[in-house]
Amino acid sequence: MARNYYSTHELDRCDPRRGDARWVAAWLADPATRVAVVWRDKVLAAASDEPAAHLVGPAALAGRVDPGALTLLGTCAGVAYFGLDASELADPLAELGLGPAARLEDLRKLGPVAPPFEASLLAYARAMAYWHRRHRFCGLCGSPTSSARAGHVRVCSSDSCGVEHFPRTDPAVIVLVTHGDACLLARQARWPPGRYSVLAGFVEPGEELEAAVAREVFEEAGVVVEDVRYHSSQPWPFPASLMVGFTARALERTLDTSGDELDDARWMTRDEVRAAVDAGELLLSPVDSISRRLVDEWLEG
Ligand SMILES: [Zn+2]
Repeated sequence: MARNYYSTHELDRCDPRRGDARWVAAWLADPATRVAVVWRDKVLAAASDEPAAHLVGPAALAGRVDPGALTLLGTCAGVAYFGLDASELADPLAELGLGPAARLEDLRKLGPVAPPFEASLLAYARAMAYWHRRHRFCGLCGSPTSSARAGHVRVCSSDSCGVEHFPRTDPAVIVLVTHGDACLLARQARWPPGRYSVLAGFVEPGEELEAAVAREVFEEAGVVVEDVRYHSSQPWPFPASLMVGFTARALERTLDTSGDELDDARWMTRDEVRAAVDAGELLLSPVDSISRRLVDEWLEG
């Protein structure tokens, strides 16, 4: 079964052991443990093709980081993996002693070229760091919160509140709409020139996924769809989404992009897409995206 980039299916997330502080500490003392470092909106990258080059050993962290900045991501093949939010450090490369090969990189650039397992760990760590940074205070009473259960819960410090906050992921639908031999591709004004993609949008509270697909396609492109079918899903930590991929059939090859979401939309056949890509006139989504996978699988027929 094909997998989307940033999926962590090899990882044992160890949920039942997260509350066992001694067990977690033993992993942190194990030199084989590896840590995915996140600094603000960037992740640690290395100018090396060595396995696990984008992860660091726990020795680099000793005495330099607050244990509350670490999240246990899970274990795989006898190795534990943690995420570290190093955003509080002014110069993380120097302060963690990471050497001249290390650098900080946008995961959107690194993800498509890094080994997939490492990219998935960096994505998971990035999503957790994003959540931790935005939940330092209780949303209910405003008191400070602290990290617990190896980074998977934040607990309100107020005795009278004490509510637990859990990591959030925002579902979004993304859909390849077809009609006969054509598919619907669209672009937003802020995208690079020539970039077109399938349609996507956030699921609203109280809404089914299939209804969100139909609503988004009609709102953005004026197209009515039927036969909405699940394809696959993808963690998408830019910043905190789960992309839920679908295919759908349009009733008619209509288009109405008078709303404010799209710069342009068009129906294109496979031959038209291939020719436009070859001519450099059409730029499809990056290879790490489910958007690209939906289009590529359609192109392959
Ligand atoms: Zn509270």
